[in-house]
Amino acid sequence: MRKDNFIIFLGTGTSTGVPVLSCNCEICRSKHEKDKRLRTSAFVQINNTRIIIDIGPDFRQQLLRSEIDDFDAILITHGHRDHIAGLDEVRAFNYIRNKRIDIYTRKDVADAIRTEFPYIFDPKGYKGPPQINLHIINQDPFTIGNIEITPVEVMHGKMPISGFKMGNLCYVTDANLIPEESMNLMRDCGTLVLNALRTRPHPTHFSLEEAIEVAKKLNPSQCYFTHISHFMGFHDEINAGLPNKMQLAHDMLCIEI
Ligand SMILES: [Zn+2]
Ligand SMILES: [Zn+2]
Repeated sequence: MRKDNFIIFLGTGTSTGVPVLSCNCEICRSKHEKDKRLRTSAFVQINNTRIIIDIGPDFRQQLLRSEIDDFDAILITHGHRDHIAGLDEVRAFNYIRNKRIDIYTRKDVADAIRTEFPYIFDPKGYKGPPQINLHIINQDPFTIGNIEITPVEVMHGKMPISGFKMGNLCYVTDANLIPEESMNLMRDCGTLVLNALRTRPHPTHFSLEEAIEVAKKLNPSQCYFTHISHFMGFHDEINAGLPNKMQLAHDMLCIEI
């Protein structure tokens, strides 16, 4: 039984997913389910409102395996392919649920969607494109259904992107720096989801060590790391060495928030 307010990690992998195509490393050859990671995405339910965060190339498979057959809106953190490539799949919800899909994101991401999916916005050409409503967000809180959502700006290399705070949950992916004002928004929250790519440093994503440092500063009740590459190591081994209240997320993990 799923709880009232929860998050399901639909995917916890970096942009390539794990296993990486054609890679023969021991992580990619692992038979353990927790070492297999689709692209990073999550389903959040709070007060009966259902949100998808990011819609990457594995979206269809993710909804099928988690048996999610409807949702109220999609939040998109940034415009990189591993976070928007599944947009065409919303057509199923247009047909079956007979509704347009509400998407909330920054202006630069909306621009990326217009560039990457021009047929969605072509009134004459393409038959049956995805039907979406693009809602542009800034730094101000906004409401979807019964959830108030506060955008939390974080840095992904030189690019500002969105994290989100909703209820007791703070969700940040693809960051390598969190400005002080954003840190202040997330301190002492219930559940923190934070990206941690691998053990070695990376120019645009937190390493595990950096993510642990940020998590210690934010002091959530529980912290889960996501957007993980095959260079992280085996899920169970890394997890066993993490500080108290911190864990690696894995695909299909469902936790109460
Ligand atoms: Zn990413
Ligand atoms: Zn590998």
